[in-house]
Amino acid sequence: MSQTCDEIFRLMSEYVDGELPADTCARVGGHLDSCLPCRTLYDSLRRTVEACREFRSGEAPGPMAAGVRDELLAAFRKAVTARKDTGSTRA
Ligand SMILES: [Zn+2]
Repeated sequence: MSQTCDEIFRLMSEYVDGELPADTCARVGGHLDSCLPCRTLYDSLRRTVEACREFRSGEAPGPMAAGVRDELLAAFRKAVTARKDTGSTRA
């Protein structure tokens, strides 16, 4: 479970940017449909990236977008790690 999520983390920002090959894109999309934590991260990331793009009027995402993205990914990793620590015996 966590191995797949970890793979999805690494693909997430490219997925949001639409830079993945079609088959990889489909795999990420399928995982997002079945994994709520990843789905939540994706929604946050997409909203953030879209907001940054609108704010910058169509310019390529700058350092600000990249920084917010890293923050979200770091927060999500922390959440999943905490879940792993507490839930390993029950889930
Ligand atoms: Zn996941």
